[in-house]
Amino acid sequence: MKTYIVGNWKMNLTVGESSIYLQKLLKRIRPAKGIEIAIAPSLVALQPLGVQLERAKSKIKLCTQNFYHRDFGAYTGEVSVTQLRGLADYAIIGHSERRYIFGETNKDLKQKVAAAIRNNITPILCIGETENERNFGETADILRDELFGALSEIDAEDIKKVIIAYEPVWAISSTKGAKLAAPDDIAESIKLIRSELKEIYGKEVSEETPILYGGSVNPNNAGAYLTIPGVNGLLIGGSSLISDHFVDIIDLAKRVRS
Ligand code: PEP
Repeated sequence: MKTYIVGNWKMNLTVGESSIYLQKLLKRIRPAKGIEIAIAPSLVALQPLGVQLERAKSKIKLCTQNFYHRDFGAYTGEVSVTQLRGLADYAIIGHSERRYIFGETNKDLKQKVAAAIRNNITPILCIGETENERNFGETADILRDELFGALSEIDAEDIKKVIIAYEPVWAISSTKGAKLAAPDDIAESIKLIRSELKEIYGKEVSEETPILYGGSVNPNNAGAYLTIPGVNGLLIGGSSLISDHFVDIIDLAKRVRS
């Protein structure tokens, strides 16, 4: 299975800054077998970065941070995943910032997962418990609820097109005070997610669904997170905005795989 390194730039960088940043990455990143690199810039930067990547014949993929689940229509201000076809290969769905700041529910996420699959864009479904939920011993229930809340209509074929990202909400953005998750805690949650997948979709899906970890990943902890059993890559926020850190993490992923 591939190792996925995905950088989520969130609402940072102008189009010009995004392009300069990508230029730096293009100079420093060499393609490596088995490593899939994707960046999720702001929606407005997807198109120009797509052109830049094409000109450079780069294998770096683009990921959208958001989209609306309908394909076309009278939805002023929205961008559909249909409009992103050919631009983005991946779509982040269910990020905690979308759930908690923008009020996205499992029902919304279910529609988004279906729309991404319908449009041949790989959904990266984020799930994860808050600190309170963890303290109250509800982690397993939350993971199950978020997983099947978004996947309830996904059949045994389409589940093979889905990537899961385990992102404990309490571990996101350590620069803003979040805690670092311990590898053992992550391992336990990943095991849980795989066992839920097994119950619904069977052993093969449970073993072959890529599961990424996200939560304050940086070059100092990425090696440890990448070697957690069952982790197939990283979803990186803050550190992906620092090109040296992002490149270091990619280099670590190459070393862990070799
Ligand atoms: C994220 O927002 O998906 C994320 C993991 O952010 P950070 O790496 O900054 O914690």
